[in-house]
Amino acid sequence: MVKVNENFLKLPGGYLFPEISRRVKAFLETNPPMPLIRLGIGDVTQPLAPAVIEAMHKATDEMSRKETFRGYSDDSSGYDFLKEAISRYDYKARGVDISPDEINISDGAKSDCGNIGDIFSVDNVVAVCDPVYPVYVDTNAMAGRAGEVMPDGRWSNLVYLPCTEENGFFPDLPERVPDLIYICSPNNPTGAAATKEQLKVWVDYANKHGSVILYDSAYEAFITDENIPHSIFEIPGAETCAIEFRSFSKTAGFTGTRCAYTVIPKALERGGVSLLSLWQRRQNTKFNGVAYVVQRAAEAVYSEEGRRQVKETIDYYLNNAKIIREGFAKAGLTAYGGVNAPYIWVKTPGGMPSWDFFDLLLKKACVVTTPGAGFGPSGEGFIRVTAFGDVDATREAVERITSLL
Ligand SMILES: *Cc1c(COP(=O)(O)O)cnc(C)c1O
Repeated sequence: MVKVNENFLKLPGGYLFPEISRRVKAFLETNPPMPLIRLGIGDVTQPLAPAVIEAMHKATDEMSRKETFRGYSDDSSGYDFLKEAISRYDYKARGVDISPDEINISDGAKSDCGNIGDIFSVDNVVAVCDPVYPVYVDTNAMAGRAGEVMPDGRWSNLVYLPCTEENGFFPDLPERVPDLIYICSPNNPTGAAATKEQLKVWVDYANKHGSVILYDSAYEAFITDENIPHSIFEIPGAETCAIEFRSFSKTAGFTGTRCAYTVIPKALERGGVSLLSLWQRRQNTKFNGVAYVVQRAAEAVYSEEGRRQVKETIDYYLNNAKIIREGFAKAGLTAYGGVNAPYIWVKTPGGMPSWDFFDLLLKKACVVTTPGAGFGPSGEGFIRVTAFGDVDATREAVERITSLL
């Protein structure tokens, strides 16, 4: 009889978001006095930019004519027009020498962050931040790299890097040397963004030990501080120790359209093997590329109008973040993030457990947030609030919470 991958059976079963849904549903059954405002979701709400829509229409028309129809592309890593635009605007414009052939287009940073594990041995030791984007943990657990779940909810083989108020939500170097190190900056869930100096410490460490940094910069477009790097490749030495994941999801509202990319420098080798060649071998075998129409849509993000329109939407979300940050500060709450990220990481008042504060805001303000404890033990004592909502709803949510406290 077939045997299932028993690593899947070890997974605690998607506790966070199902539990939030359960509590919200139960609360809605009590006929709440005010309409619910959802500041818990990590999804965008504003439509695609007009320049993007126009490019999609045009590409769709091309697909309708025999002369311009496209089937499989020769190369699953994406069309040159998109890779060239990325190389030029996301890298060379910032003085970073990343060429189109180091860029690999995909359907999502989530899939890439998980699939990248295919090119690494199951014996590698993996380090994750705590709190963490759960995809890094669960995909390694599925691959058999995480060990067993311990009574405190942590995995026995993972190295946890606490990100706390004390270290400014950026991890210190661990005692046990990991092989693979996931760093997400600007961070989901804390909203913290790493400086060049902070990243340099990890780049030097990874080069010294032969580790590889898996750098997720899905929220790069939200960086407003000029001193914060947009790419890990702005750090000297990163080209020999880092892989970068980027996505059009949060940058340009592609969460339902699906387009992202992974950058692996040609100079990155381990054991004499190019990691770029392994990744391309993997992708060419298991993936047939992103839809032509979608790649044309992504290309339009880099046109003059595209860049302006996309920035307007980012500014809209950043304005929500400001409303949340300032409103909460006025209410006497300690709030982090929201300057270079669409997330605000709010300390619960009086050391209240995060699920209790979640319940209080749900029941008394009819506002849905995300309890920090759901992202890992170091998230206890915090809630995550997102800036992806509607501005009026965001303002109202902040008013309700302010008058409550
Ligand atoms: C939203 C998000 C992504 C983007 O994933 P896609 O699959 O590209 O939509 C990646 N990493 C983090 C941490 C995210 O929050």
